[in-house]
Amino acid sequence: MATTPELIDRPRVLVVGGGYVGLYVALKLQKKIANAGGIVTVVDPLPYMTYQPFLPEVAGGNIEARHAVVSHRQHLKQTELIQGRVTGIDHQNRTAVVAPADGGDPFEIPYFDVVVAAGAITRTFPIKGLADEGIGLKTIEEAVALRNKVLERIEVASTMTDAAERAKALTFVVVGGGFAGIECITEMEDLARAAVKNNSRIRQEEVRFVLVEAMGRIMPEVTATQAEWVVGHLRSRGIEVLLNTSLDNAEGTLKLINLPDKTPAQEFEADTLVWTAGVQANPMIRSTDFPLEPRGRVRVLPDLRIAGDEGIIDNAWAAGDIAAVPDLTGSGLPDGTCVPNAQHALRQAKRLAKNLWASRWDKPMSDYKHKNLGAVAGFGEWKGVANINILGRIGLKGGLAWLAHRGYHGLAIPTGERKVRVIFNWLLGMIMGRDTTQLLDLDNPRGAFVAAATPAPKPAAAPAPAAEPAKAPVTADAK
Ligand SMILES: Cc1cc2nc3c(=O)[nH]c(=O)nc-3n(C[C@H](O)[C@H](O)[C@H](O)COP(=O)(O)OP(=O)(O)OC[C@H]3O[C@@H](n4cnc5c(N)ncnc54)[C@H](O)[C@@H]3O)c2cc1C
Repeated sequence: MATTPELIDRPRVLVVGGGYVGLYVALKLQKKIANAGGIVTVVDPLPYMTYQPFLPEVAGGNIEARHAVVSHRQHLKQTELIQGRVTGIDHQNRTAVVAPADGGDPFEIPYFDVVVAAGAITRTFPIKGLADEGIGLKTIEEAVALRNKVLERIEVASTMTDAAERAKALTFVVVGGGFAGIECITEMEDLARAAVKNNSRIRQEEVRFVLVEAMGRIMPEVTATQAEWVVGHLRSRGIEVLLNTSLDNAEGTLKLINLPDKTPAQEFEADTLVWTAGVQANPMIRSTDFPLEPRGRVRVLPDLRIAGDEGIIDNAWAAGDIAAVPDLTGSGLPDGTCVPNAQHALRQAKRLAKNLWASRWDKPMSDYKHKNLGAVAGFGEWKGVANINILGRIGLKGGLAWLAHRGYHGLAIPTGERKVRVIFNWLLGMIMGRDTTQLLDLDNPRGAFVAAATPAPKPAAAPAPAAEPAKAPVTADAK
């Protein structure tokens, strides 16, 4: 297999994934490593970092899609960027295999240190029809598609005369009652409400939103009382909340079952099925020689070095959703590791960059330790819930929680330039209202051009002129 021709002789920090962890590690190290004669290389199939907490607001049409992502090339000027997917790592030989995003031939890339930061993917179950009918909410493309689908289905339904078809078009189902699922269904409901207001052919009561959650409660990140309040809030907006319920079949008609006895619950048809029921470590990690824990994440020490039963693996680091990072505060998952979220990913990345740099100079490293600051969630304009752990626990709901959500995330999105764009997005939305413009033909943008550039078929031979009708005699009355 070929190796990359350029920069091969410079000690490389290879960062696998340019998401939350990868972007921050590169930002923190690129200059130092370059000044020391090395190079930081980020490999990611995407040319940007996705600020995933904004995906529900993109789906709801509150944030312009491009503003919820951070361009690698614009912000990682001293980093070598490769648009591709790491398909394997042979750490013993300090090489990784990269498959270029454009489908070109895979090549090997040598490195000195590796930082594994390929995040997580949507976790699904083998449910019939799910892969064909469902969509996740993990990428910016999915968020954009959801916004367009809500608007498009409402528009299409407004001219439908068949009652069953119309009901199907206007039914939107979200499976998964975690943060992502609740934010997604509420933002979409807000968008749909705004769209229906502009469409006299649809009544609000016709639009159906259904949340399906397998557990007996939603949003484990907030207290049980807050979660109950959220359920009440959703129901007050007409969103059906089905707890202890699971999707059993998605082929044609959606079949829901009650848990745990698996008895039939409901059957109905829906054109939109969103799956947000959890994440799992990126399976690319299985194509490496790193030690994994039972949930498939790579094992790391609190200082973020990868370590197995035989001890520390030199020059190998990991953080974020793909890593089982011990939570030294004792408030993490039941297995003692950190919850997979952006709050941890960002801080782990900064700690990892410091430790990696210290390791280069045989300086002492520090363990990662971060006390959870709580959680903030937005449910559409002026609605939300928050659980903030600063100076004691502060629980907020409604408009204040929504402001806390916007205040926190407006400042948390990486880079000053993106913060400004997002905040102006929001201000414009507040002044001018939500933009419900529907964009058409995104998956067939050449359609109009192809139609224009394709020669029109020759007209068929003109039919013989019909015999002129005999003129009726003009009578005196007709005059
Ligand atoms: C809808 C949604 C809402 C969320 N809201 C919140 C929130 O409000 N608060 C919060 O704290 N957290 C939230 N999170 C979680 C948070 O976004 C993640 O925990 C965080 O992004 C994890 O960072 P990461 O760097 O580990 O992974 P990611 O940010 O997912 O980055 C992984 C990167 O690796 C790349 N990659 C994948 N495979 C490969 C490969 N083979 N080779 C190279 N690169 C690869 C991907 O393209 C991606 O860029 C939310 C997540 C979602 C999906």
